[in-house]
Amino acid sequence: MTLRLYDTAARAVRDFVPLTPGKASLYLCGATVQAPPHIGHIRSGVVFDLLTRWLRASGYQVTFCRNVTDIDDKIIRVAAGEGVPWWQVAQRNERAFARAYAVLGCVPPDVEPRATGHVPEMITLMRRLIEGGHAYPADGDVYFDVHSYPGYGALSGQRLEHMRAAEDTETPDAKRDPRDFSLWKGAKPGEPSWETPWGPGRPGWHLECSAMATKYLGPVFDIHGGGLDLIFPHHENEIAQSRAAGDEFARYWLHNGLVGVAGEKMSKSLGNSLLVDAMVTQVRPVELRYYLGSAHYRSGLEYSAEALDEAVAAYRRIENFVIRAAEVAEVAWPAAGAGPAPARDLVPPAFAGALDDDLSVPQALAVLHETVRAGNNALAAGDTAAVATRLAEVRAMLGVLGLDPIAEPWADAGSGDDLRTVVDALVGVALAQRQAARERKDYAAADAIRDGLQEAGVVIEDTPQGPRWELKR
Ligand SMILES: [Zn+2]
Repeated sequence: MTLRLYDTAARAVRDFVPLTPGKASLYLCGATVQAPPHIGHIRSGVVFDLLTRWLRASGYQVTFCRNVTDIDDKIIRVAAGEGVPWWQVAQRNERAFARAYAVLGCVPPDVEPRATGHVPEMITLMRRLIEGGHAYPADGDVYFDVHSYPGYGALSGQRLEHMRAAEDTETPDAKRDPRDFSLWKGAKPGEPSWETPWGPGRPGWHLECSAMATKYLGPVFDIHGGGLDLIFPHHENEIAQSRAAGDEFARYWLHNGLVGVAGEKMSKSLGNSLLVDAMVTQVRPVELRYYLGSAHYRSGLEYSAEALDEAVAAYRRIENFVIRAAEVAEVAWPAAGAGPAPARDLVPPAFAGALDDDLSVPQALAVLHETVRAGNNALAAGDTAAVATRLAEVRAMLGVLGLDPIAEPWADAGSGDDLRTVVDALVGVALAQRQAARERKDYAAADAIRDGLQEAGVVIEDTPQGPRWELKR
């Protein structure tokens, strides 16, 4: 079975046939860095991290480009409100996004271009559009002429005559048609600007993505991704600009569902407590990653504390199996930076089939949980060979999903070999004392030892293989 992906432009699931066999190029609209990220912002980062991991596990050599929109009306407004330069706001929030991607275990993109670093490429693209009769300068701005591109509206399924005016313009009288959108915004007093042949100004949001995608991935590339809310106008406009200029541009358009709270799209006011920085103090980052990635990427994700708790519990069931099984099967805890994502032939075929089916993570997780159940049965039966087999399958699946608790980045310093060996020996001494106390029927002493361990954060569980311990979470 080959990978099949839902292409918004085709409104259908299509076989993924890359431009160059064995390679896959992916552009993802990244952050507009006017505020730190909440889980609604970061979901697309997790979703497309899963896609790139699966492509790589399937043998593709992936080139992944995710931009940073570091100049924008909202950034300028925030900066003016704080009385600081625009670039302070942009840099501060870019770092917050980088931290959030990293803390959730997202593999960094191969290139992460900033809009303000690509003004020459934008000027070149505007010149091609103006010379081709698709764009025109007016009153210091540069506009795209939507009538000049017959396919305008195809991605979002709209007809030009039914479309509303583009809202990105402060001087609509300068435009030939209210639906023409800004490629470039003329400089205003006190605002940052860059020189162009048509006067100083700053990039329009849509133009920058066309310019950066083609700079790094070429005039035609495989996959363009983003949130559902970007289909119109952003992606519609990217297509118009690039195709009108003569570039074939993206061949597949993938869109992830949005995160909602109580049926609403997450707004800034609702989102404050859902900032990634705040969330990872409530649950462990790996648990948040599991939660954000567990729904199908095209579905909406309705945030609730209960749903998050369920995801945490589900992940801990998997994790408990991996840790217990690794002890029984004597798997070494991998050192920092251990290997790439495992190849697809290590995972059960049903798991691979689920991910090949438009990245159906819920189906894939069902296979994972089923394998964990089988592994727990093998543990209970003391069937070490079966434990080892199930463990290898579970860890291969978790590796693909970026969730293996005993691999980087989740195997934290506290569970490193040296410290773990020492704690293991100390707990062993305490457990031997507890066993001796029990044998002489001194249950008070036995309980005191268990309570003392618990107070130190060590939880003891009696299993058929004897007592085992883990750190309290
Ligand atoms: Zn974009």
